[in-house]
Amino acid sequence: MMRVPLAGALALGRALALAPARSSSLRAPARAFASRMPEVEDAGLKWSTGTGAPLECRAAVAFGVDDLRTTDVVVAAPKAGEVRLRVVANALCHTDIYTLEGSDPEGLFPSILGHEAGAIVESVGGGVTSVKVGDKVIPCYTPQCREADCIFCASPKTNLCPKIRGTQGRGVMPDGTTRFKTADGAPVAHFMGCSTFAEYTVVSEISCAKIDDSADLAKVCMLGCGVATGWGAAWSALRRRFIRPRPKNIAFITFVRGFRTPPRPHSNAETDAGA
Ligand SMILES: [Zn+2]
Ligand SMILES: [Zn+2]
Repeated sequence: MMRVPLAGALALGRALALAPARSSSLRAPARAFASRMPEVEDAGLKWSTGTGAPLECRAAVAFGVDDLRTTDVVVAAPKAGEVRLRVVANALCHTDIYTLEGSDPEGLFPSILGHEAGAIVESVGGGVTSVKVGDKVIPCYTPQCREADCIFCASPKTNLCPKIRGTQGRGVMPDGTTRFKTADGAPVAHFMGCSTFAEYTVVSEISCAKIDDSADLAKVCMLGCGVATGWGAAWSALRRRFIRPRPKNIAFITFVRGFRTPPRPHSNAETDAGA
């Protein structure tokens, strides 16, 4: 069972990172894997207002199951500890489809889906210090609070920080309210703490991973989920299989199991997982 996701993850990594450059005649249009908006408009970063005022923009709003419509929305100013982003590039993840088709038990409507994107900081709320207007960032559906009492952020084995998981699952920001509404004032829910299927979105500061200014957002947007998930699955499987130290009593466990059950394929993996 372990070989399928591992092979898939390695294939993904090879396709994204190791494939040789293709000639322009063979290159697929960027929209084949990511929507893209201009990073810099003719007059410069005129959309980076940095004022923190509410603004109107377009968003692909999921109003219900398989009911996705491009709609004008109002994006409120970021509050303390929040960041408003100009979304430049998006990739489509299976989880977006899973939610849109009504399979996600946490799915809410109306909402703005999308969680795999490249963006630029447009304005910041009070107390935000890790990013500034104009920074390129990857919105992360799993944040990193880096607080001293967060065992998940401190652990080298995981990064599943639960700091804002509760409100994120309810489609709101940590203060319990949404930053989106339709033109007629109806509230629109957030999705996975990212909601990147909009020209602008608001996320928590701890959900922003600052990246290099030279990064091509149409390519690195996939770091937000696909690449990270694939790499994590492959690395975790390899570490569990080959790197993690085995318990000192492994010989005794194997000895007992030898009497209890007949040998089965993948016995190493099972022993390791149960250790
Ligand atoms: Zn995803
Ligand atoms: Zn944390």
